[in-house]
Amino acid sequence: MSSINRAISRLLNISEGIDEDKLKRALRVARSMSSPDKGLSMANDLLGGFGVEYISEAGRELGYVDLGGTYDQTICFEDGEGFWIGSWGDWVEEVEAQQSEEEGMIRCAYCGEYTPIDPDKDWRETVCQHCGWYVDGSGKAPEPSEDDEDEAESVKPIEGQRLQEAIDKLLGGERGTDNE
Ligand SMILES: [Zn+2]
Repeated sequence: MSSINRAISRLLNISEGIDEDKLKRALRVARSMSSPDKGLSMANDLLGGFGVEYISEAGRELGYVDLGGTYDQTICFEDGEGFWIGSWGDWVEEVEAQQSEEEGMIRCAYCGEYTPIDPDKDWRETVCQHCGWYVDGSGKAPEPSEDDEDEAESVKPIEGQRLQEAIDKLLGGERGTDNE
């Protein structure tokens, strides 16, 4: 889901969201129960939810009170984390981002393509190689400067031997594997 969809989803939730005091009360009650299942079930009763749901992602499991919306603030539970107030949509995004980070790739929130993570930056500042937006979908990144080595891979096919030589020089003698 793009961050635009996310923003719209959050805007729509403003009018129908459950107020914070009620959530905090449900959180306290959930934590006081003897098991996670009982805690979620009790929170569901208190919030008037549609039931307790479980979703699995990357070997992790989230339990939450279903309030209808992907980004509705609700009561969540995960082993090792305990109970907290949050949305299952944010949890899924977080898990996906962590998993991608472990694999060295990240999915662009704007165009949906995977791009290598720049290890020198926060993942949110990684620029998508496909569309040029920041991968968190927050906006288009400034045009890269010409001497940015990281951009060498995305240089368009070159016409003319001199340009090719210039590129080779920039790469410090390491020729690209595409050359014939
Ligand atoms: Zn992109």
